[in-house]
Amino acid sequence: NRQIVLAARPSGAPKNSDFALKETPIPSPGAGQILLRTIHLSLDPYMRGRMNDGPSYAKPVQIGDVMTGAVVAEVMESDNPDFPTGTIVEGRTGWQEYSLSDGSDVRRIDPSLAPISTALGVLGMPGMTAYTGLLTIGQPKAGETVAVAAASGAVGGLVGQIAKIKGARAVGIAGSREKCDFVVNELGFDACVSHRDQDLAGSLKGACPSGIDVYFENVGGPVFGAVLPLMNEFSRMPVCGLIAHYNATSLPEGPDRLPILMRQILTKRILVRGFIVWDFAEQEQQFLTEMAGWVRDGSIKYKEDFVDGLENAVAAFQGLLEGRNFGKLIVRVGAE
Ligand code: NDP
Repeated sequence: NRQIVLAARPSGAPKNSDFALKETPIPSPGAGQILLRTIHLSLDPYMRGRMNDGPSYAKPVQIGDVMTGAVVAEVMESDNPDFPTGTIVEGRTGWQEYSLSDGSDVRRIDPSLAPISTALGVLGMPGMTAYTGLLTIGQPKAGETVAVAAASGAVGGLVGQIAKIKGARAVGIAGSREKCDFVVNELGFDACVSHRDQDLAGSLKGACPSGIDVYFENVGGPVFGAVLPLMNEFSRMPVCGLIAHYNATSLPEGPDRLPILMRQILTKRILVRGFIVWDFAEQEQQFLTEMAGWVRDGSIKYKEDFVDGLENAVAAFQGLLEGRNFGKLIVRVGAE
């Protein structure tokens, strides 16, 4: 049973030596347990936070422990009548090939609904993040402008498409021309600008002639600086992620711009609300039903970025924090 464990707490960008590949015997299920074989492992930005010690909304991974993560897995052996051999489940068993569960922390996947990998993306946690954060906090109305960064990614790509379903104008921000072309031509956003453009503030302003009514915050950093002056009166800002800062070891240089931020929030009466997807756990069934319908009727498209082999998970995760993924990042750990 190959596992990737946390070897050291990173300072800045995670290095190869912060992880270790370990080989352990395949475990045997005890009373009431099931043995799971990992098929797909989801790689997500939040994992960077779990590598740090210190208070957050979730407990850190301990040194020597298997890296945390959601997987789609097959039940190989079962002493639990609710999960017979061959059942496909989604669970949080981490970066490893095999694991045990008593069934309480996994959910069944219906393989006839959609490809099983979608349980980690459009029909899983990232999909629910986009759906709940945008609709509950952002509340886009027809004719409004919704902006989102990491727009070709797992969450951002869905945010813009849901905004379109609600009749809003969707403007993406992404890390390359190729990603922007995909966001406009395949996902159907109205416009997309690259945050690597010389004049991001100017091109974003051009793409948002009526300002921004909802900014779904995924990244922070210079993108946020370009967005803030464009926020309209009574605009909403669901704060979902700040990936531009996840590897930071100190605060950026420069004048203290907090007064500008607070003045904008005050004078434009901007609603800024942070959220963690599980704050909206009661919406899970509604999300699954509605999103599965949109996927089935083609009004929502999704892109998955597959990497083969558990041994390549570290490099793929490092790439995720630098924008090298293109779509929902998934490691194929075992055969379907
Ligand atoms: P993505 O699939 O979008 O991948 C991450 C992307 O972030 C990269 O591809 C890159 O895209 C972009 N990025 C990385 N560094 C920077 C930077 N310095 N400036 C601008 N963009 C950057 O990931 P997810 O969709 O899974 O996650 C998106 C955000 O949502 C993250 O911040 C994540 O932490 C957050 N999140 C929050 C949840 C919650 O419950 N609050 C739940 C799930 C996700 P590009 O090349 O286009 O810049």
